[in-house]
Amino acid sequence: MPKITNKKPSIRKKNLPNSYPFNKAQKKWSEYWIKNKIYHPNLVKAKEPFYNLMMFPYPSAEGLHVGNMYAFTGSDIYGRYQRMKGKDVFEPIGLDGFGIHSENYALKKGTHPAKQAKITEKNFYRQLQTIGNGFAWDNRLETYDPDYYKWTQWIFTQMFKNGLAYLKKAPVNWCPSCKTVLADEQVISGKCERCDSEVTKKELEQWFFKITKYAPRLLKNLDKIDWSEKVKIAQKNWIGKSVGYEIDFVIIGTGLSKPIKAIVFTTRLDTILGATFLVISPTSEFLKKIEAGITNQKELNEYIWSVRNKPEAEKISEKQAKTGLELKGVKAINPANGMEIPIWVSDYVLSGYGTGIIMAVPSYDERDLEFADRFNLPVLQTPLVAKEKIAKQVGGKLATQYRLRDWLISRQRYWGPPIPLIYCAKCMIKVKNAKGKERQKYNAGELLNPGWFAVQENKLPVLLPYVKEFRPTGTGESPLASIKSFRDTKCPKCGNVAIRETDVSDTFLDSAWYYLGYLILGNQKSKIKNQKFAFLENIIKKWLPVHMYIGGAEHSVLHLLYSRFITMALKDMGHINFEEPFTKFRAHGLIIRDGAKMSKSKGNVVNPDEYIKKFGADALRLHLMFLGPLEEGGDFRDAGMAGVIRFLGRIWSFGATFNAIKRDKELSRHMHKTIKEVTEDIELLKYNTAISELMIALNIFTENPEAVTKKDFETFLILLAPFAPFITEELWEAIGNKFSIHKAKWPEYDKKALKQDSFTLVIQINGKTRHTIKATKGLSEKDALGIVLSEDKIKNLIGDKIPKKVFFVPERLINIVY
Ligand SMILES: [Zn+2]
Ligand SMILES: [Zn+2]
Repeated sequence: MPKITNKKPSIRKKNLPNSYPFNKAQKKWSEYWIKNKIYHPNLVKAKEPFYNLMMFPYPSAEGLHVGNMYAFTGSDIYGRYQRMKGKDVFEPIGLDGFGIHSENYALKKGTHPAKQAKITEKNFYRQLQTIGNGFAWDNRLETYDPDYYKWTQWIFTQMFKNGLAYLKKAPVNWCPSCKTVLADEQVISGKCERCDSEVTKKELEQWFFKITKYAPRLLKNLDKIDWSEKVKIAQKNWIGKSVGYEIDFVIIGTGLSKPIKAIVFTTRLDTILGATFLVISPTSEFLKKIEAGITNQKELNEYIWSVRNKPEAEKISEKQAKTGLELKGVKAINPANGMEIPIWVSDYVLSGYGTGIIMAVPSYDERDLEFADRFNLPVLQTPLVAKEKIAKQVGGKLATQYRLRDWLISRQRYWGPPIPLIYCAKCMIKVKNAKGKERQKYNAGELLNPGWFAVQENKLPVLLPYVKEFRPTGTGESPLASIKSFRDTKCPKCGNVAIRETDVSDTFLDSAWYYLGYLILGNQKSKIKNQKFAFLENIIKKWLPVHMYIGGAEHSVLHLLYSRFITMALKDMGHINFEEPFTKFRAHGLIIRDGAKMSKSKGNVVNPDEYIKKFGADALRLHLMFLGPLEEGGDFRDAGMAGVIRFLGRIWSFGATFNAIKRDKELSRHMHKTIKEVTEDIELLKYNTAISELMIALNIFTENPEAVTKKDFETFLILLAPFAPFITEELWEAIGNKFSIHKAKWPEYDKKALKQDSFTLVIQINGKTRHTIKATKGLSEKDALGIVLSEDKIKNLIGDKIPKKVFFVPERLINIVY
């Protein structure tokens, strides 16, 4: 925090320095804002709550990136605007500092993550104070703070108790470099989201959250929320609903007395007559069921082994040749035509898709055709059949499949919240054997995971112990597993010796609920110790769901999806009264530099510190916002800074020489247009055009300073305040107004005044009327001449002769003499 002084800044109506003293103004006002808590709404009493949220940064680098600042400034402008519209705006900030990204950074630096967290925390908060945002500092949070992760763990126990967490041995995505498992969402084109290494597969026992249970609702609710369309589309595709049929194919040759059926899911039942072979995923459990009939088991095992580590992207890639093996000894019967067809195993069928078994129709499906061509399998040209009719004939059942998989939540890493679960071998047997009434003693999670119990609420948080050897082990066990004093504990159920889960939870669980965290932590920290969410029912009801959320689109199927899921689950458990966390979400665009992506290796990263030091926060804010509409991003060029610096300089000179005392209170007509345009642009996050409007307004001011009323200039400063909070506060005071401009009322425009905004300009050449045009009131002589000389009719009359004299009657007439 900056040092707080009690001294009220002096009011200087005149004798302002020649140029804008941005360093002084920034220091003075950021301290004064904090002292007066102007960005701290009363969370209990607020009448018009407006929760203005921005995605909190993960401090995995030296400091704040200009991309962060771009997003934060964009969000802050919206928040400041809402505050001036009379809303009680809550704009919190914190650090997402737990998890793999911060741990990897600590590893790179060779520092312990706990120590590194303190270093980065200091630097990030120092930087965040310089950018001019209206943060509610008292409510800041860090996800590695035990007061915070106590709740992350509490949510985990709630998920467990309600049967939404389960343990499963599964082939999982494994990053050999980060030495940990990854959720599907964290694998981007076969590579680790964090470090870009090729991801492989590994069989491990892992905790999962049942996000698939919520797939239909996560999809359906997309229609109800006002989010950037591209994010909704990404979520829709990720959830991947497909409606089709499930059909049984009888397997022959298994040697078993009972016939075995393979359940095939298809969205193209109408092509079934052309199905000439079945393909099973190498990881499908179904292979075990028909094991007895397979005569080339050895080759099958070899095949499965050979493809076990292949990244998914490679398996389904069109460029890679498909691999496969025919299962000898078994065949399937196509129920539509009775044909005996071969069964193949190939990894181009993913175990996650449908049932993991497909009917291959090479005559209608390109991937199947490619496979058939490669292995000389028959291709049958057959007619399409109507789906309902054939479904009846083959006993097909309508079925819905989702692409979404359950959320792999455990991590074999150090820097995260320990998963708050305990395993008791003794109780495991009791739970397993429990029948009838006996089962009612256990909650859904205990029945689902025999032997496992949630840590009691009053024993949370389960503190992350300091472990010197925090490096990932690579054995599939977390570094916590080697800490005996941590691992050994007592069973919460029977009191006997038991062991703790030693994995930590995925960092995306930390961020899934942080919007709630800002409300329940912060300055009220001590009061709510050991209380449930319900204690804050009124605050939660008042402030949530979040009114406006701005962040990166890269989190579409990660944070933004997980957050919706956790919110829905908490609603179903009765802890909160809403199921969608963010009413409105807008994805900001990306900033590039001189046409190229910013990267450390290219040495073209913009460090906000340097620019703020050299030009001031207002200048950097304006420059960033002037690059393009917030949702589109833009190209950062140093040369562009000059324009906004000049703009600020001109505002300053105008304000310094402006005589505030004898001006009237009426608004000039052209200001109504400025108000209208700036207001509408801010609503649409088109900050670049809002700034243009303000530049035009300043031009009008400087062309005819005598015509500018006090009200005009005040209005101008108010409209500019969200973009340039320091210079506006300074000039607001200088012209004799009360602190703070950021609490001033947002102006309204007069529609009638806008209508009267245009007039007919009479154009005379040598005193003779030659032409008339429509023009905007307030048009200067210089601008009028420019417009007139570009009119074809006038050009034809004058040719290239140079006017000798110009007579101008504002808002009526122009006479050119030559
Ligand atoms: Zn990695
Ligand atoms: Zn026990």
